[in-house]
Amino acid sequence: MLKRTIFATGLLLVSLLPLACGTNAPTEKYKQKMVILGFDGMDPRLVEQWMAEGKLPNFQKLAGQGGFYRLETSTSPESPVSWASFATGGNAGKHNIFDFLVRDVKTYVPDLGMVRREMPDFFLNYVPLGRPKVTTLRGGTSFWVTAGQAGVRSAVLTVPVTFPPEDVPMGELLSGLPLPDIRGTIGTFYYFATDLSRYEEGNTEMGGILKRLAFEGDTAQSELTGPPNPIVQAQMADLRKKGATLNDADQSRMAALEARRDIRVPFSVRWSKEARSATIDVQGTTIHLSEGGWSKWVPLEFRVNFLVRLYGMAQFYLVRASGELQLYMSPVNWRPESPVMPISSPKGLSKDLYERLGTFRTLGWAEATWPLNEDRIDEKTFMDDLFHAFDDRAQVILHEIDSKKFDLVIGVLESTDRVQHMFWRFIDPTHPMYDAAGAARYGDSIERVYKRCDQLVGEVLQRIEPGTLVFILSDHGFHSFKYGVNLNTWLVENGFLAKQGKALGDKNLNDMFGGGGQFWEGVDWTRTRAYSLGLGQVYFNMRGREGQGIVNEGDDYKRLADELSAKLLTMTDPKTGQRIVRSVYKRDDVYSGPYMANAPDLQVGFEDGYRVSWQTSLGGSPPGLLYPNMKKWSGDHCSFDYKTIPGSLISNRKLNANEARIIDIAPTVLKYFGIRIPKEIDGKPLF
Ligand SMILES: [Zn+2]
Repeated sequence: MLKRTIFATGLLLVSLLPLACGTNAPTEKYKQKMVILGFDGMDPRLVEQWMAEGKLPNFQKLAGQGGFYRLETSTSPESPVSWASFATGGNAGKHNIFDFLVRDVKTYVPDLGMVRREMPDFFLNYVPLGRPKVTTLRGGTSFWVTAGQAGVRSAVLTVPVTFPPEDVPMGELLSGLPLPDIRGTIGTFYYFATDLSRYEEGNTEMGGILKRLAFEGDTAQSELTGPPNPIVQAQMADLRKKGATLNDADQSRMAALEARRDIRVPFSVRWSKEARSATIDVQGTTIHLSEGGWSKWVPLEFRVNFLVRLYGMAQFYLVRASGELQLYMSPVNWRPESPVMPISSPKGLSKDLYERLGTFRTLGWAEATWPLNEDRIDEKTFMDDLFHAFDDRAQVILHEIDSKKFDLVIGVLESTDRVQHMFWRFIDPTHPMYDAAGAARYGDSIERVYKRCDQLVGEVLQRIEPGTLVFILSDHGFHSFKYGVNLNTWLVENGFLAKQGKALGDKNLNDMFGGGGQFWEGVDWTRTRAYSLGLGQVYFNMRGREGQGIVNEGDDYKRLADELSAKLLTMTDPKTGQRIVRSVYKRDDVYSGPYMANAPDLQVGFEDGYRVSWQTSLGGSPPGLLYPNMKKWSGDHCSFDYKTIPGSLISNRKLNANEARIIDIAPTVLKYFGIRIPKEIDGKPLF
């Protein structure tokens, strides 16, 4: 059974602590100033093309003063891995972020791979006896910490893999990914509609909660599913300890607890059909929406019990109010002024920013990719929302630059990544989801986001002192995700993964977040040599490491690595004969450092067009090797050969950067400030 992924009881504990607001501005020690703007997934080929066409004038200006370079990404080209390498200057063996998932080696069950969570115990099932502990799995030392120890004052803003926030000496940090929503997930959206069938109700593959609205007259009553109640969870866990010996009373108690497992907030919708509008009443807030209208951020309160409350906020969007009523609600964000747990360092920073700038979304995954992927909102709505997400982060970055308190400002925006994930199908005519009409309408969306980035760079350039070193960079580029590759199915068919019987059905993210999911059904571990989990990682079933391992260290291991990697390279598309796997990287060839024990044994690098399937990422092995990707999530970077998918680097200073790598940024910054480069850093300074 998986630990539930929530952060629920933090509020009470946080509210008991004095708010540490405001820092005394540290004095200036360095004359050097630097700004780094990260645009997740910004692809160098697109940057190059649009710079040449004069569409990115500020990028061009910077590149003219210094240069434009390709920036090699991490071996697993995933954002958390790559940004962790950015922060620490090391390979994943040194920072421990190998993938967005980790597995429990004893049970093989997957869990999110950036943080570890521990819930506190409750006195008499009521009063929390400690703080819920969320610790980052990221090891190594961020360059902003090293720089801060030497007196550099830095602001680190929404950089991925900075939740929970770390202390930055002389600096400030506002957390980014994996800062969760109120349910502890990367973003559970809500969709309420009159035309949902019973079959459609429930949890979607990619984290949405769908509920049917039933009207009596012009009013429907419904409820929002909030975080799981940690007290109820603890009671359920206690009952479960009895194992198979649950008597009838226990079982009915379990059912009663199950019904109260999530904290719910009731709300009502009044529908005025003629006016094509609806009025939502939730916890004392009344929201009038016309069809196609967004609400402001609505405050929400989730009561764990009399003592403990959790505060969140969400936006409603009225998709449709004619014929049928369809209502979308964003994931419930933590509120910057009263987060469930601290989301900044110092702790008071997020509240301070709220007081100066108004509210802003805090969710690490800030854009509405999942509801678009599940067809619950349309492209236009997705884009409108995406630009708001962009603006929320941009204003924080500009505000911190304007404060003139910092020598080094690092800000990351991810809208570039999200729009490419969702809209690649409009710029790749060979994608199975390409359609000419859609392309005519939305084909310029990615370009619009790049232009917005360029505009932000312009705003930054107006604000900084002359001589400031500016880096614009991305963690990886993008490829087309035309076919999903069922890598575990291939492992089964080729005798590396043994199965008996049939799997019980597809996995969804709620199986993992919800804690009730079964994984690896029908897998016979006693005959399994290798299995895949996450985005292109293959693990060997090692004796003494995995719960039921059969592969021995030494020659056994080496033989398997050779055999499997050679065989993977022969994988071809049965229809076209095209090669699917471009490279396979062996653990010991690409990773080194203190976290080697957690490294995948192989990292598979797919060709452009072929990405590991969603089901494989959760350990599933559905029939068939390949399937055409008919989802709107159409562009990707994960599981491709990292050598083919570099990020971008634009600098206003010339660099020795024929081979710039993401791990080179940390030592470059340290050298710029004249700070000795720690020897655990793998990268080399770029000047
Ligand atoms: Zn991405």
